[in-house]
Amino acid sequence: MENKSSNFLRNIIIEDLKSGKEDHVITRFPPEPNGYLHIGHAKSICLNFDLADEFNGKTNLRFDDTNPIKEDTEYVESIKEDVKWLGYEWDNLFFASNYFEEFYNRAVLLIKKGKAYVCDLSPEEIRNSRGTLTEPGKESPYRNRSIEENLDLFERMRKGEFKDGEKVLRAKIDMSSPNINLRDPILYRIAHATHHNTGNRWCIYPMYDFAHPLEDAIEGVTHSICTLEFEDHRPLYDWAIQECEMPNVPHQYEFARLNITNTVMSKRKLKLLVDEKVVDGWNDPRMPTISGLRRKGYTPESIQNFAREIGVAKADSIVDEKMLEHFIREDLKLKAPRTMAVLQPLKVIITNYPEGQVEMLEAENNPENPEMGVRQIPFSREIYIEQDDFMETPPPKYFRLFPGNEVRLKHAYFIKCQEVIKDDQGNVIEIHCTYDPETKSGTGFTGRKVKGTIHWVEASQALPADFHLYEPLILDEQMKEEEEEGKTFLDYINPNSLEVLKGFVEQNMKEAKAQDKFQFFRHGYFNVDPKYTTSEKPVFNRIVSLKSSFQV
Ligand code: ATP
Ligand code: MG
Ligand code: MG
Repeated sequence: MENKSSNFLRNIIIEDLKSGKEDHVITRFPPEPNGYLHIGHAKSICLNFDLADEFNGKTNLRFDDTNPIKEDTEYVESIKEDVKWLGYEWDNLFFASNYFEEFYNRAVLLIKKGKAYVCDLSPEEIRNSRGTLTEPGKESPYRNRSIEENLDLFERMRKGEFKDGEKVLRAKIDMSSPNINLRDPILYRIAHATHHNTGNRWCIYPMYDFAHPLEDAIEGVTHSICTLEFEDHRPLYDWAIQECEMPNVPHQYEFARLNITNTVMSKRKLKLLVDEKVVDGWNDPRMPTISGLRRKGYTPESIQNFAREIGVAKADSIVDEKMLEHFIREDLKLKAPRTMAVLQPLKVIITNYPEGQVEMLEAENNPENPEMGVRQIPFSREIYIEQDDFMETPPPKYFRLFPGNEVRLKHAYFIKCQEVIKDDQGNVIEIHCTYDPETKSGTGFTGRKVKGTIHWVEASQALPADFHLYEPLILDEQMKEEEEEGKTFLDYINPNSLEVLKGFVEQNMKEAKAQDKFQFFRHGYFNVDPKYTTSEKPVFNRIVSLKSSFQV
């Protein structure tokens, strides 16, 4: 695992500044507004902003909005919100679509230099004529059109004289280049579509490989960081900058994209999950989107720390999802108040406790952070405990409640199980216990010991609550068969990815607001869901359970 000190991108920047190749640093985060950002994007955001920050540089947020068909202002807004929420402030906000005129002029320059031509082959014919790694490509019959004819046709493409797919503008490089990306790649295509920013002003749009280097150059980006799959595109990136005679010369560097176990990380697939209503939106807590992680209860700090810890690598790898969980536990350990919640309630009657009496007991809010103080919680004759904290016939080493056994109620007393009440079908519906007043928590009672401590909630004042527990949406193991069987990932949706439990929380949770985070004793960390919580009933999303065998 690499950390900050072995970040090869950082070393490149240090070297560039030392050698005088650059005297400042400008990076950019360049999302295409065709979906919501996911944790992989968060990695790229942290990387670009942190690197520039370290060298007193600047980072721009640039919308790489050159494809009108899939883009939308809803995505633009969500991306801005997510970057801000992650804790970053961009120096400039740019839209690649504002450079359409400049892209066009640069394309005209290429034509004039004999470096680009209009081709009438269909996209499929172009693909088929590009050759393979072992076979050179075939030159297009339109490759040797005159400069005048190319200028005329390109202008008419812009005017809308041709239909989608009828013509493209291609770079004239080398059809036998060992790098297939250099075999006369398409620079412009026709798309009669309304663009979220430029409306119907354009019907030709630049391809990523042409637009991206020019965008970087126009904005004076020094270090253009992208993911590994663009490594083979770098010669084309450099070609475009050089042949278009851009005054600034940015350089592209590639790092391995983030992959996480059991996590789908592609906007296209995430959009399918939304469109097919597998989830309740882009911010469903099961989604690896930044907005989904936020709604699940992740904090910006936990995501930043995760991104920094995994570092940057030059080879693809897959990070264990437990690592992300580790960082939210660490972040919430001292921040989140600890309270008690019963997720699957079982009524307990304490038969020797006075009827009608309610006493208040003191409970610490976070034993690891005494500054969080204490709260008062009610205790009375009727309480709820967890169904699985009772067993009528316990296995060996079961130290919780069973007939004749005594346990400690957290913050309260020892209780002993005296009687099990069942319904007609034989289901346990109530437990009758006795309590020992001498064992009250905080009094220093040492008379005898019990092996089990369980949590509980006083019944008369308990606040009903829903709990949403999650498992991965898609299971990796099953997914591996995807290609063999010709199914899509949608065939491998985990039917148990959401479990809804109906239970109770302490009465003081009435004050809890959307996005507040708590540690429920023995259950883990939970977040108040902003979508389903009502004034009558809070809904808690489990962020992560408590146990972890994971070591960083
Ligand atoms: P997706 O395949 O999910 O649609 P993308 O790369 O097409 O992702 P962009 O909007 O183009 O999405 O990405 C913006 C930036 O985020 C790019 O610089 C891209 O390299 C980076 N990025 C996207 N996914 C990851 C990832 N999994 N890990 C690291 N960086 C990523
Ligand atoms: Mg992209
Ligand atoms: Mg994409």
